[in-house]
Parts: sequence; C-alpha cells; structure tokens
Amino acid sequence: VASDDLTLADVGEFALIDVLAQVFVASARPSVEVGLGDDAAVLAAPSGRLVVAVDQMIEGRHFRRDWSSAHDVGRKAAARAMSDIAAMGAVPTALLVALAAPGSLPLAWARELAEGLATEASVVGASVVGGDTAESPTLVVSVTAFGDSGDRALVTRSGARPGDGVFLAGRLGRAAAGLTVLSRGHRQPKSVVAAHRTPEPPYAAGVAAAAASATSMIDLSDGLLADARHIATASGVVIDLDRSLLGGDDDVEAMARNFGLDVWEWVLVGGEDYGLLATFAPEAVVPAAFRPIGRVSELREGREGPVLVDGATHRGAGGHEHFMPPS
Ligand SMILES: [Mg+2]
Repeated sequence: VASDDLTLADVGEFALIDVLAQVFVASARPSVEVGLGDDAAVLAAPSGRLVVAVDQMIEGRHFRRDWSSAHDVGRKAAARAMSDIAAMGAVPTALLVALAAPGSLPLAWARELAEGLATEASVVGASVVGGDTAESPTLVVSVTAFGDSGDRALVTRSGARPGDGVFLAGRLGRAAAGLTVLSRGHRQPKSVVAAHRTPEPPYAAGVAAAAASATSMIDLSDGLLADARHIATASGVVIDLDRSLLGGDDDVEAMARNFGLDVWEWVLVGGEDYGLLATFAPEAVVPAAFRPIGRVSELREGREGPVLVDGATHRGAGGHEHFMPPS
C-alpha cells in the first residue's frame, strides 16, 4: 500500500480504490450478500422494496477542507443520505460512494474520508458496498443510500391532515450557528461547530415515527420553514408553528446575542440540522424522541400560508449564510 504522503496523482486510481476498499471491507456487515470487489453489490431486501436516496457534497459549496476534517466530511456525507432514508421511516442498510477528486488530493485525506463514511454507516449497522472514483478539478463526494422499511408503512410528505400535531426530533439552529462561527474565523463553541461538521440525525426516531403511524415526515436539511413548506405543499394543508415551543436552546440563543444576530433566523431558516419533522394524528402515541412544535390546519382561500409562525407568515431579516464562499 502506498504511503500517505502521496497524492492521488502519485498513486493512481487502482491504488486509491485499494485504500478505500480496505476501509470499507473491514467495516462491512455480514448481511451484504455480495459486497466490494465485484462488478455490482447484491443486497437483501427483506421487505421486498428498496428505499433509495442520493446526496452530493461539493467542496466550496457544502464543505471546506480547512473547516472540516476528511473524517467529518465522510461522516456528514453518509449522514445526509441516510437522514433521507430515516425520514421515510426506513433503516439504512447500504451505501454506494462516488468520489470525484483532483489529482493533488492527499491519499491520506481519501482514506480518512472512507473511515468517516464507514463510521457513520456503522451507527445504523449499514455498510459501504461499492462506489466509483474519477479525477475532477472539483472535489465531490456523492453517497447513495439504500434502506429497508421492514413491515412498516413508509411515511411520505403528503399525508398531513388538519388536526394533526406537528412534532420535531432533534435540535434547531445549531448547524447554522456553527456555520456562522466558522465563517467568521472562529472554531468555538465546539458544540455548534460540531453540529455543522458532523450532524447526528435521529435515525431511530424515523423508524419509531413510522411504527407510530406518522402521517407525514421530512428531514430538516433546508431549514425548518422550508422543510415544513415541503410537507404543507405536498399535503395541501397549512402548518402553524408555535414560537414558544421552538426556542430554548441556551447555547444558540447566547451565541446569537454575542454576534448581534436574530436567533430566529438560525432556528427558522438555518438549515442542515438533520432533525426529523413529522405529523401525527391526535390519537397517535407519539414517540418520546419527538416534541410538539405546532399544528396542521386547513388550507383556506385568502389565508396566509402554507407555513405560519404564531399565525402569521414569518418575515425574516435575511442575511443568514446559506452558501459558503469558495475555499
Ligand atoms: Mg430530505
């Protein structure tokens, strides 16, 4: 195996694939019927259907190498794809990874990326079962996640009904706060920086929500208001969020005060928290990971919506940092 001081251009594609495969084979689960090393992987699909999602992370857009380690990027790339599987109420089982990278990328970075991917996959018992590499001027990590729903009904975005409660598993505003910290040249506080670098989706809560007959569900990638809008639009309803139930994160509130920023921009608009937003009928026994944050109501002509905060459309101050400058 080539030395870690070398770049991808020094060692070539086959050596790169060897390095990645060593990491993935070492962490693979026995449930994979045919894994790495053949033309394609073979997966069991016990429920008779596959739940599939893909996600890309592009350097300069979604991550910066001076802000996140290779291990962080690997963990986040896997988490983002597996969060989508969890948001359907399924359990992630396998990942495919496509890496496009410049020849100047250190081999050690690629190995650490693979270790991060394998680490996050192992959180839910999934394996990396294959992938592809290509030379590219831009570093891109693409992850396709496969999941299994068992005997549970899958949860889509379109089933929310007037009278349902709106519930959240996870925290709000921490990843946006972390991104602001990093973009202003700081590395502290660690808790919010970690929320940006390595989100921890509540995978088990997605399964629990499906088992408890959630009527709709989505993972929070674009920000609470935007993701709530996805459910409201798909379901043809209004989602009314209760501001008094959304705050309460002392770290995030203190940081917003220190920076002179509006904490609600982080909580309502900031993305990438990777919690789960779900709706449940009034009679449902809502899993403990979820807390109530609002209600679903009827879409009516002439009324504001489809997402309201305390009964009104949120008019943000703007100025949140959705996009990073190129590194
Ligand atoms: Mg999603």
